[in-house]
Amino acid sequence: MRIPMIAGNWKMNTTVSEAVELVNEMRPGLDEIANVDKVICPPFISLITVRELIKGSSIKLGAQNLYFEAKGAYTGEISPLMLADLCEFVIIGHSERRQYFNETGEIVNKKVKAALRAKLKPILCIGESPEENEAGRTEAVIAGQLRSSLAGIDFAADLIIAYEPIWAIGTGKAATGRQANKTTGFIRQNIAQLYNEDLAQKMRILYGGSVTADNAAEFINQPEIDGALVGGASLKAPQFLSIVKQTSEIKGRL
Ligand code: PEP
Repeated sequence: MRIPMIAGNWKMNTTVSEAVELVNEMRPGLDEIANVDKVICPPFISLITVRELIKGSSIKLGAQNLYFEAKGAYTGEISPLMLADLCEFVIIGHSERRQYFNETGEIVNKKVKAALRAKLKPILCIGESPEENEAGRTEAVIAGQLRSSLAGIDFAADLIIAYEPIWAIGTGKAATGRQANKTTGFIRQNIAQLYNEDLAQKMRILYGGSVTADNAAEFINQPEIDGALVGGASLKAPQFLSIVKQTSEIKGRL
């Protein structure tokens, strides 16, 4: 019922010409794979160019961040309205933004609201720190992040959630499939409580954190996990293609 999704977060990597090269390398292979939403999220400055390159293909485009105001004197920021013209998805609340740019739950909440108002589909990132994980606080932290990120939002049909344990991001130390499935299931239960069971069953919940072509199947095989948010491995066309292909095959069988 839920269309699987693989989203590539390129982070602060690729110049415009490198982005062009990467898209040209991925596009033919990605276009051959059906039944998976394939999303790439390059840096802001490459969005227009990449949008042109993927026109007519099945690849979808996302941004990595936005500011919550529609327009005005906010030097250097990018508004939801600017993005709505260019792409369909936007990553919000990535742990790197929470950690390095002091994004609080309140800011993330404003950003999710602003994205939905502009008809962008937010990929909301949540996840616990290594210390919280070791203290057995994962579920309490996740429940709190969901409550604060979604406060005052009564219509969340276009939302996608990415469960990204901070200890697994960019570390090469991925969660196990079982761990990730358990927390993803917990997120779905919380969505059912905050909204309703129908929305919870429709909402796509991804796992993110050191996903590669070698370990992707472990996550994709889990019933609660609808795909992955991929950082490092999304910058290598053969890896990203392999992850998308495995997702199509595995979810097609389940
Ligand atoms: C990410 O940036 O969202 C991510 C999951 O990174 P990586 O795959 O490199 O761990």
